[in-house]
Amino acid sequence: MLNGIGASDGIGVGRVMLIAEQSLDYTPREIADVDAELERFRSAVDKFCDNTMEQAEAIRQSTGEKEAEILLGHIAIIRDPFMGGEIENLIKAHQCAESAVDQICKMFIDMFSATGDDLTMQRAADVRDIRDGVISVLLGVQEVKISDAPEGTVLVVKELTPSMTAGINKENIVGIITETGSQTSHSAILARALEIPASLSVANATTQLSSEELVIVDGFKGNVLIAPDAKTIDEYTAKRDAYLREKRELENFRGKTTAGADGIEYELFCNIGTPKDATKAVEADGEGVGLFRTEFLFMDRDRLPTEDEQFDAYKQASLILKGKPLIIRTLDIGGDKEIPYLGLEKEENPFMGFRAIRYCLKNRDMFKSQIKAILRASAFGDIRIMFPLITAVEELRAGRALVEEAKADLKASGIAYDENIQVGVMTETAASGVIADLLAKEADFFSIGTNDLTGYTMAADRGNSDVGYLYSPLQPSVLRMIRRIIKCGREEGIPVGMCGEAAASPTMIPLLISFGLTEFSVSAPSVLKVRKNISKWTKAEADAVAEKVMAMTTEAEIKEYLESIV
Ligand code: PEP
Ligand code: MG
Repeated sequence: MLNGIGASDGIGVGRVMLIAEQSLDYTPREIADVDAELERFRSAVDKFCDNTMEQAEAIRQSTGEKEAEILLGHIAIIRDPFMGGEIENLIKAHQCAESAVDQICKMFIDMFSATGDDLTMQRAADVRDIRDGVISVLLGVQEVKISDAPEGTVLVVKELTPSMTAGINKENIVGIITETGSQTSHSAILARALEIPASLSVANATTQLSSEELVIVDGFKGNVLIAPDAKTIDEYTAKRDAYLREKRELENFRGKTTAGADGIEYELFCNIGTPKDATKAVEADGEGVGLFRTEFLFMDRDRLPTEDEQFDAYKQASLILKGKPLIIRTLDIGGDKEIPYLGLEKEENPFMGFRAIRYCLKNRDMFKSQIKAILRASAFGDIRIMFPLITAVEELRAGRALVEEAKADLKASGIAYDENIQVGVMTETAASGVIADLLAKEADFFSIGTNDLTGYTMAADRGNSDVGYLYSPLQPSVLRMIRRIIKCGREEGIPVGMCGEAAASPTMIPLLISFGLTEFSVSAPSVLKVRKNISKWTKAEADAVAEKVMAMTTEAEIKEYLESIV
């Protein structure tokens, strides 16, 4: 078995088609007729762009607009005057076109690869694709015809380039295996868009696998099984069919309102980490965003994002959501989320330490600039503010006071914002659960963060496998916390949602319905599944389940019972 990264869900069973790398070897030459070589280069670029346009059109029809744009981006890059100018300068210095293209592209590839940033490194893959494309035209090398692949083909290739993807016929390609790429690489994006199971970053796949060999691609786990026996094939075929059946079934829930079997409606939001994820939330049929984890805007960089940069990000997310709610959580750093340039001191006990709202309230300028950015963005959509890790009413008051200060500053400068912006509390500490009655009087909404709430209630670190047996939202203590938070919120008439992972758990859903949760915020791929699971329950049936569960004394008993009924 070979191991890789599972980058596109599903199981593919088929025969290998090895896409060998074509030789793009050339002999560097000194050019005497510079004008003729410039002409040769320019017409090669024109031909490359024509080919790319054709491929983009094929992708647009087979896959979609967004995926076609990846290829159209290649035209923009090679037509960029700086890149083209640099290549032409080398030709003017008597280098042949192949070597000029190679050298300048290599410079960009090295520059992008060195960043270590996933997205920028993608640009390196783009430039590699462009270099190979233009040099192929210059050398007159024929493209491999993936479109001729027979039914039941598993493509095995060093790197799946967007231009290759153009030739993929979804009916015939049942799996993709590459030696490079990550969850966020173009190969992964394209494989997911084509709905073809893919395993990426499989070391030496092109030398370990041979053409016509029978393989199974497990796109969930990233494994590749070579020459499986009949029993294994049956097992995986059954898994594949069950997955496809479920997927088809879930599609019936797209575009529907989220409601229980008795018609009671709920809100079903998504959790996101970047403005671009808002697109995924919309595509996943989320009805809004229940948690925007803003720390990602602060990570992978070497200085704080400015107020304007944050404003752009929040505004962009809000515009993508087209008026749907967007709950922005203020910076939640510390604990397991480190930001090197902030120079946070190493703590003996980081999860109990100087983090999230505690850090923000002590770094008022930074906090105020985030709040101002959120307020400014609130002029463009339904934006709400949420404070993480609240443990005392004073923290909520101090946060709200800063919101008022920021509003006054903006008003004085004549900048628009939503005067009635809602300010909520992420109830994710044991303290916030215990004082939920007090917090509910001063917060506009609650969102239960079960990931941390479970840890803080059970005094069990979510990352420590030795105490993993304690870390469960089905522990009687955690369920009592959740029930209490929802009850306190409802008594004060404020909405209570849940943005921790438990909101998507099928065993948890009847309990949440019974307790009175009104909003579920889950990861984009879970949206339709959660909508389906909610649709199974009436409030009365959920109440009966909750009554039984809340009379039970151990997590094991609760889990066993719930698993037997969902
Ligand atoms: C939580 O604690 O439940 C939560 C959603 O926040 P995070 O996972 O970002 O800590
Ligand atoms: Mg949390």
